Amino acid sequence: MTYDDPLDSPRATQGRAPDVFRPGGFVPMRQHRDSDLVDFVIVGTGAGGGTLACRLAEHGFSVVAFDAGPYFRPLEDFASDESEQDKLYWTDDRIVDGANPLQMGSNNSGKAVGGSTVHFAMVSLRFRPEWFKSRTLLGYGADWPLDWREMWDYYAEVEQALKISGPVTYPWGPKRPRYPYRAHPLNAAARVLAKGCEAMGIGWTETPLATLSAPRGLAHPCVYRGFCVTGCSTNAKQSALVTWIPRAIAAGAEIRDLAMVGRVETGKDGLATGVHYFRDGQWRFQRARNVVVAGYAIETPRLLLNSANAMFPNGLANSSGLVGKNLMAQSNQAVWGLMEDEVRSYKGPPSLAITEHWNYADRDKDFFGGYAYMSQGPLPQLWANTQFSAHGLWGDPLVAAMKAYNHVAGLKIVGEMLPQESNRVTLADEVDQYGLRIPRITYSWCDNDKRLIEHSLRFMSQALQAAGARDIWSQDDDTCHLNGTARMGDDPRSSVVDADCRSWDIPNLWICDGSVFPTVGGVNPSLTIQAVACRTADRIRAMARRKELAAV
Ligand SMILES: Cc1cc2nc3c(=O)[nH]c(=O)nc-3n(C[C@H](O)[C@H](O)[C@H](O)COP(=O)(O)OP(=O)(O)OC[C@H]3O[C@@H](n4cnc5c(N)ncnc54)[C@H](O)[C@@H]3O)c2cc1C
Ligand code: SF4
Repeated sequence: MTYDDPLDSPRATQGRAPDVFRPGGFVPMRQHRDSDLVDFVIVGTGAGGGTLACRLAEHGFSVVAFDAGPYFRPLEDFASDESEQDKLYWTDDRIVDGANPLQMGSNNSGKAVGGSTVHFAMVSLRFRPEWFKSRTLLGYGADWPLDWREMWDYYAEVEQALKISGPVTYPWGPKRPRYPYRAHPLNAAARVLAKGCEAMGIGWTETPLATLSAPRGLAHPCVYRGFCVTGCSTNAKQSALVTWIPRAIAAGAEIRDLAMVGRVETGKDGLATGVHYFRDGQWRFQRARNVVVAGYAIETPRLLLNSANAMFPNGLANSSGLVGKNLMAQSNQAVWGLMEDEVRSYKGPPSLAITEHWNYADRDKDFFGGYAYMSQGPLPQLWANTQFSAHGLWGDPLVAAMKAYNHVAGLKIVGEMLPQESNRVTLADEVDQYGLRIPRITYSWCDNDKRLIEHSLRFMSQALQAAGARDIWSQDDDTCHLNGTARMGDDPRSSVVDADCRSWDIPNLWICDGSVFPTVGGVNPSLTIQAVACRTADRIRAMARRKELAAV
């Protein structure tokens, strides 16, 4: 058997797609011609696009989903090697500026069938209900046009689809169904978090994770090797690549890998007509009745802005002027220290224990919003980079720090940053390998962001000390998880899409990824992105039944 390199040429061709569960294997896949008028073209196959492709295909629509990245079979393509696995990230050129420029690449977006979920850390959390109405109920940010009770049902659907492993009783928020799979056992790093929380008098629990704690079909349980954020080579991780995408194909969707969409086309009537995409060395055009953009919070506005034409000179779906604006990172600061005993924090998924105390407590805070913090397990290369870039160590001090690697314990937040129009994605003049203008990403923290970060570092330092750590230091400049840039709302003047992820300006153009978030909350976003995608598919089916879709 010869190895077909997924980075070299498309694998999903000739009526078949890679079988992610068998090295060298394929499964049959329905294939369309460019001239076919398909019901839905979806740009991006990650948390938003992959989920939507599955649910729309299961609802009976014809679907072609494009991804600029390769179609991996984790069992044969992933190595236990941090450098080799750089192939999972979107590392094309992007320009960053602002007072707090974002670090792009491995700490935010992926480029693969399955999107960023192929390398995500699997933490699967629900929003606090009040966050869907944070402006009205908590006095900051912007309200979502969604009701938390409806979202609670969609969260449960996604948790079942991914067989999330989690605690029997979740300590925060309204009652939720029991997680489908039992929680993973704590590693030593997680026990440090637990000890610190107990000393500080706050709650903690096992982190709900999208990795299997028991067998599921052809995927076997997590083996606790800890390579999760560089791609799980065992398929225990329940990424979109091994969950929604196989279901989508079985339901009749087509996936096109190594297919970069450069432009969404519109017709004389102002409706979307399809997408121009580059695959196998040439530009082609796929016709469609509806186009969904789901390329992540940077590539989604970039594509909409790059698709400007005479009728829409400021880019598609942009009559509000908000495409690209209100970009939100999440703060990702950490405290690190040394324990007397070995911790070997890299063993197992990186975040096995969590506290959401500061997401749900509204007293003793001098900031709006909240944060969760979790135990950590950085791999050695990442740890060496962190020691250099965030701790300033080099030479002998760096060698000494690396010798202490097995004793390191850390706590890291996922913190809410507030939406600001000045934090944005625009187009730079420079172009990429396809001749498309690259994004410029401008980011500055506001005073509230800074107060949240200070609060978290102070609290976590005390917790780590209370757990018995020494030589504690703070990593104060990290961010993660980009969202916003095409927010949903109930007013076309202050939002880009409505509650159904349908653009206000072009009724057959939809956006279905983290871009639609009006606020980010203090939890990792992928469960919410997938829940919104499931809801969007149901809403589209209901609209189709009522003959309210623009073009189906
Ligand atoms: C290291 C790391 C750890 C993370 N851990 C967690 C975690 O534990 N829990 C959590 O909830 N979240 C986590 N995240 C974040 C999470 O993975 C993302 O928020 C989520 O996947 C975003 O979903 P999305 O649909 O917006 O985009 P993505 O999942 O990134 O999917 C976008 C896809 O679109 C494709 N694309 C973009 N533009 C084009 C184009 N023009 N043409 C064709 N294809 C295109 C890209 O190749 C990509 O595959 C983590 C992220 C990182 C980087
Ligand atoms: S620790 Fe588990 S989820 Fe992470 S890479 Fe290993 S098997 Fe996969």
